[in-house]
This record gives sequence, structure tokens and C-alpha cells, in this order.
Amino acid sequence: MLSRKLLALSIASALVSAPAIAADNPASHQHGHAEMQLAFSDNQVEILLMSPAGNMLGFEHHPRTPEQHQTADNVTNWLEETPLVNTQESTCTVQEGTVQNELADDRDHDAHSHDDQNQHADITVTQVLNCPGLDTSASLTTPLTTRFPGLEHLDIAWAGPDGQGAIRLNHEENSFRLGR
Ligand SMILES: [Zn+2]
Repeated sequence: MLSRKLLALSIASALVSAPAIAADNPASHQHGHAEMQLAFSDNQVEILLMSPAGNMLGFEHHPRTPEQHQTADNVTNWLEETPLVNTQESTCTVQEGTVQNELADDRDHDAHSHDDQNQHADITVTQVLNCPGLDTSASLTTPLTTRFPGLEHLDIAWAGPDGQGAIRLNHEENSFRLGR
């Protein structure tokens, strides 16, 4: 399971290096932009998605109003339940998933205890999908670019038994070819 090891490594390195990168390299947290990595093996795909929280929530501070808490809950639930990529026949189901929302996780946080006006926050999602027919799929879809109006660009990189590739999707472009 080479791809599983690859993704595990990339997830671990992303989690370890994210704070350092965010401090040293502002481009890694770019509003309107998100990155998704896919690792294929047979009919399984492992996903790592990293996005500024503002792309999905419309704000990037701790929720202050009931509406903002509701938005954060809705987005978290959607990211937990919705396959972030799918076959054209929508055969994928979520086997495992995690959502790290730096803003929504901190429910007891007192929004007035410090000035977070200039604070940035990310949402990191991992998923393991089971997708019958994936191993013969020539193209895949993603619901992300239509679900989140704040997401202007989604960079997708993938690796699997047939090689690797990458593509940038613009807002409302929701299909990409795997080139096999
Ligand atoms: Zn930000």
C-alpha cells in the first residue's frame, strides 16, 4: 500500500509543518485558494484538503453570532459527510473522515478575550472513500467548487498505480480527467 504510506507521510508533514509554513510563507494561506491531495489504490481514495476557513465559512474569526455558529456547524457536517471527490456515477462513500476547523472546534473560546481581527485560520479535512468503479474511471468530480462560492481556485494533485497528475479547477468547474 504505497499510496497509503505516501498520503500518511504527506498528512503528517502537513500537520507538523503547517504553522511554520504559515508564518514564513503567506502564500500557503491564500484566500480564495485551496489544495487537495488524492492517493488512489484500487477503488479507494485517500484525501487531504487544506483551505483557509474563510473560503468555506465566509469569515475567519471565532463564531460570534448564532448564525455564524450555525454556518460553522453546517460546513463541518457537510465536510464530514460529503465525498470530496466522486466518480461520474457518484459511487463514492465516506469510510473515514476528520475535519479540523481551527475556529469551530473552540466552542468555549471567548471571542472578546483577545483581538482576533487579523487572525487567519485553516480547515483541514481528511477522508478515506470507497468508490466502486474508481479503478476504471477516466474522470472524477468534486462538489467543492460549487458548494463554496468563496473558493476561487482548487489545486488538486493525485497519485496512484497509474501515475500522478495535477490540475487547477476554477469556481464551478467540478470535473477533472485523470489522464489514463
Ligand atoms: Zn486568512
